[in-house]
Amino acid sequence: MARRKKIYEGKAKILYEGPEPGTIVQYFKDDATAFNAEKKDVIDGKGVLNNRLSEFFMTGLNHIGVPTHFIRRLNMREQLVRSCEIVPLEIIVRNVAAGTMSKRLGIEEGTALPRPIVEYCYKDDSLGDPLVTEEHIAAFGWASQQDMDDILSIALRVNDYLSGLMYGVGIRLIDFKIEIGRVYDGDFQRLIVADEISPDSCRLWDIETGQKLDKDVFRRDLGSLTDAYTEVATRLGVMPKNATPMSKPTLIN
Ligand code: 5GP
Repeated sequence: MARRKKIYEGKAKILYEGPEPGTIVQYFKDDATAFNAEKKDVIDGKGVLNNRLSEFFMTGLNHIGVPTHFIRRLNMREQLVRSCEIVPLEIIVRNVAAGTMSKRLGIEEGTALPRPIVEYCYKDDSLGDPLVTEEHIAAFGWASQQDMDDILSIALRVNDYLSGLMYGVGIRLIDFKIEIGRVYDGDFQRLIVADEISPDSCRLWDIETGQKLDKDVFRRDLGSLTDAYTEVATRLGVMPKNATPMSKPTLIN
């Protein structure tokens, strides 16, 4: 049986050529990495959970008019997405101080910020995705001023959407990272949310207990990552309570 053409393999996902022009198959691996891949493990079922959760968030965003790359889920580990040109930035939105912001600025983790703060990092693993300013972005031509206005607006809409969704199931959205892609309809360029939205790319804390339900469980050795992600998926109604996400990878050819 013919194998599909692999376009790219990253730390947590593989991209294959899609069945139609302009499409890509995004495969979610079980690999977990942290600290720029210095810490690595394979977490059974993570890919299945992230595939379902990213589908859930992206579908919701599409429905409220925030365009995303998501077309449809294909199976337990794969989804069909629109091919796009990734803007080389990680867009981070923070509601509560944590992670690198707490370290960099000496703000205690858990301190609520006076307003959502948007940060930009240059996407380059060899440099450790350094924080950059809009000056760098403009000077090096990574995005235009119009792009930056649109990216800010998309990032804040995603923040409002995800914060509300999470609040409804007793989870506080501390921060998250998104990536943005460009698609061309003729000469007209549009920006869409790309990559994934999952507990790998968000910080999620239980509102009552402060329990971490995100990748910090892996980064900081706080217990079972699968249990944490399953808790998020179950609260959101994405996975039935007794479901097992532990299936082995299945590739469609
Ligand atoms: P921090 O800058 O505090 O490490 O991360 C801020 C937020 O962005 C966290 O929710 C974190 O999970 C997410 N984030 C930052 N960089 C990356 C990355 O390279 N990959 C993923 N999946 N998430 C990231």
